[in-house]
Amino acid sequence: MADIISGTEMRAAILDELRQEVEAIREKHGTVPGLVTILVGENPASISYVTLKVKTALSLGFHEIQDNQPADVSEEALLALIDKYNRDPSIHGILVQLPLPKHIDENKVIYAIDPDKDVDGFHPVNLGRMVIGGDAVRFLPCTPAGIQEMLVRSGVEMAGAEVVVVGRSNIVGKPISVMLGQKGPGANATVTMVHTRTKDLAEHCRRADILIVAAGVPGLVKPDWIKPGATVIDVGVNRVGFNEKTGKPILSGDVDFAEASKVAGKITPVPGGVGPMTIAMLMKNTVRSAWYHLGR
Ligand code: NAD
Repeated sequence: MADIISGTEMRAAILDELRQEVEAIREKHGTVPGLVTILVGENPASISYVTLKVKTALSLGFHEIQDNQPADVSEEALLALIDKYNRDPSIHGILVQLPLPKHIDENKVIYAIDPDKDVDGFHPVNLGRMVIGGDAVRFLPCTPAGIQEMLVRSGVEMAGAEVVVVGRSNIVGKPISVMLGQKGPGANATVTMVHTRTKDLAEHCRRADILIVAAGVPGLVKPDWIKPGATVIDVGVNRVGFNEKTGKPILSGDVDFAEASKVAGKITPVPGGVGPMTIAMLMKNTVRSAWYHLGR
């Protein structure tokens, strides 16, 4: 049976490390990292993501502002709000929860955030810095950063490994493919990115020493697509039902966890895998930003 890579446990360890950094910032600068979360409207999934981010930020002792806006807020008003936080020296990280309502141009909003406060790592300047790599990197996008951190902390050998990434989105597939192919520790892999137009998806997956699946299709990866002993990172979060008792949705990944566990060497669960790491990386980016703005 595969070893389970627990994102929940790793998140706890990372948050403990960050708590010490927050203390060090307080001692040196008499202040703490500041994060603003901007939520537009009342999308239930977005509310639960933002609530968790706020809770985690507060648990670390951050200065946290939750700036909720009504669903009909104008694009102009939202851009003005971002401008306000861009100028606010007590704020080191600005997070606008996506998706936004249709009348707002998401790209305009992402581009309006000061790249040096863009703790989500979605601004083109930060994506460019990520592609350059090395010292150019400021904020890595949180989900790919979480995946890389999980691989490193689990002792998975990346140098020379065959990595197959299923999915080519801007927030997961594309950046993780670039990051793992970079020079340097926790990278140096040979990466193949596959997608909906790939011929023979299964054959590509079977070659992977590390298989990263971010398609958003429950059960897409079959157990016989997994190389025995491979590491499987399941990024997918799919709502496959509703639990009447808890009142919460039932989540499943893109991989059949029970069957894949019989073949893989290491595997991440859903929930409790990549999700918690994403939040931990957001916090790490905010601490990094505070050090950057305040001085080491
Ligand atoms: P997306 O819809 O933007 O992209 C999905 C990608 O998968 C596309 O590039 C598409 O080409 C590819 N794809 C879809 N169906 C495929 C198929 N049948 N065969 C091959 N390729 C296929 O999604 P995204 O934003 O990258 O998210 C992917 C999944 O990861 C979703 O389930 C999302 O909820 C989840 N997610 C989780 C976290 C987290 O923190 N755990 C963060 C981001 C996204």
